[in-house]
Amino acid sequence: TKAMVPIESLDSLSIKSFPLCMRQLHEQLRLSHHLKHGGRLQYGLFLKGIGVTLEDSLRFWREEFTKIMDLEKFEKQYSYNVRYNYGKEGSKRNYSPFSCLRIINETVGPGDCHGCPYRHCDVNNLKNRLSGYGIDQQAVHEIIDITKKGHFQVACSKYFDIIHNLDIGLGINHPNQYFEESQKLSK
Ligand code: SF4
Repeated sequence: TKAMVPIESLDSLSIKSFPLCMRQLHEQLRLSHHLKHGGRLQYGLFLKGIGVTLEDSLRFWREEFTKIMDLEKFEKQYSYNVRYNYGKEGSKRNYSPFSCLRIINETVGPGDCHGCPYRHCDVNNLKNRLSGYGIDQQAVHEIIDITKKGHFQVACSKYFDIIHNLDIGLGINHPNQYFEESQKLSK
């Protein structure tokens, strides 16, 4: 069985071991204490996949959302979604975290933070974000170049290498695979 991941470690994990799509959602949630539906679904299922328990997930979303709304509203409108992701509501299916392909093909509207940043972010925003993370200009340039050619998962692999200070060119096809590969390296 998989190790449980405590929500207290998500801030540091988002920097060390999350692909950009999930790091972006995590940061947006911390910043605005809210995510729109597409983001809650994409990030919520990812968290389940890395080993965050249902109880911890509920606490995590509750702690953020109740910074901008009362508990009653959260319980009424949002806790259902969290339990749903864990197959505890509705059709009670055991939903799988989304693959890169699924995420890359998402429709992303204004104000949405889900999707794949290499596919859906404006190039300048992406550039600023990567620079803001302390990635050097040459590497940022390389990632942007690959992105512009439409090789989103290759750009993601390049980001993986930069974050881990490696040059392995891993094939990335799933955000949870990205996470697991990263965790293996940190052991
Ligand atoms: Fe996320 Fe996949 Fe895009 Fe990487 S390539 S940012 S893991 S969706």
